[in-house]
Amino acid sequence: MAKIIDGVAVAAEIRRELKVRSQALRERGVVPGLAVIMVGNDPASSVYVRNKVRACKEVGIESFRFDFEQDAEPASVLALIRELNCRSDIHGILVQLPLPPRFSVSEVLQTLSVDKDVDGFHLYNVGGLVVGGTVFPPCTPYGVVKMLEHEEIELEGQNVVVVGASNIVGKPMALMLMQRDATVCICHAKTRDLAQFTVLADILVVAAGKPNLIVPEMVKPGAVVIDVGINRLANGKLVGDVDFEGVSKKASYITPVPGGVGPMTVTMLLANTIAAAERRLRARQ
Ligand code: NAP
Repeated sequence: MAKIIDGVAVAAEIRRELKVRSQALRERGVVPGLAVIMVGNDPASSVYVRNKVRACKEVGIESFRFDFEQDAEPASVLALIRELNCRSDIHGILVQLPLPPRFSVSEVLQTLSVDKDVDGFHLYNVGGLVVGGTVFPPCTPYGVVKMLEHEEIELEGQNVVVVGASNIVGKPMALMLMQRDATVCICHAKTRDLAQFTVLADILVVAAGKPNLIVPEMVKPGAVVIDVGINRLANGKLVGDVDFEGVSKKASYITPVPGGVGPMTVTMLLANTIAAAERRLRARQ
């Protein structure tokens, strides 16, 4: 049976360390601050934003919420971002995605100051991932790397297969693991015969958003399986992309959904915000 990697417990450990760092900043007169911008009232986004605001409080980050109506003008959101870029009490800015269709997501993300882009979506940060000098690693893949490190899972020379090639999860995940000297293969919806790749994986990271995509036959015995997917079934149950029951009998490590990668994602947002505040303090000295 696979060891279940408890994301809630790993996240709690990291949050305890973050609280100490946040306290140290406050003692030096810096209150770490995160601006959270949301447009519209998408129910899932509202839950995510609420969780992020609550998590900030837990580690001593001051959060500032900016809510826009669904029909808000993109120009007013861009104007707010420019203003927040200049505010010294705000160290990180997060724009909750998705945005309404008339917004250009790339224009919004490129308006963020690179130094405050705690989600790691600005082109500069993305480019940094490619050349190995990123300012802020994107939170979900960063959380996965932290989980692997926590379990002392070797990455160098390992075969890693990432299923999913989105800009926010799959691609940065692959780059971050490649930087750690893993041999990485990325699969996506047009990959022919997904199983021929997944069976080669020592470490399999799945971020496709398709329940039951990965079944035991597709997994190498002893593989480490990280399930990033979050899917709500018709019966209301929350599941990942991996057949947890079946695959946990074959894998050496597995992450559950919920309680796996999810709590790590929010925690790494907090980590990036504290890092931004620390960096600002160093720059002032
Ligand atoms: P996305 O933008 O929809 O991307 C999904 C990726 O999976 C795409 O690259 C797509 O391929 C690929 N894909 C879809 N069906 C596939 C299939 N049958 N076989 C192989 N690849 C397939 O989604 P995302 O934002 O990356 O999120 C992925 C999942 O992770 C979602 O369930 C999301 O809710 C979850 N998520 C969780 C967290 C967390 O904190 N735990 C954070 C972010 C996202 P194409 O590129 O060819 O379309």
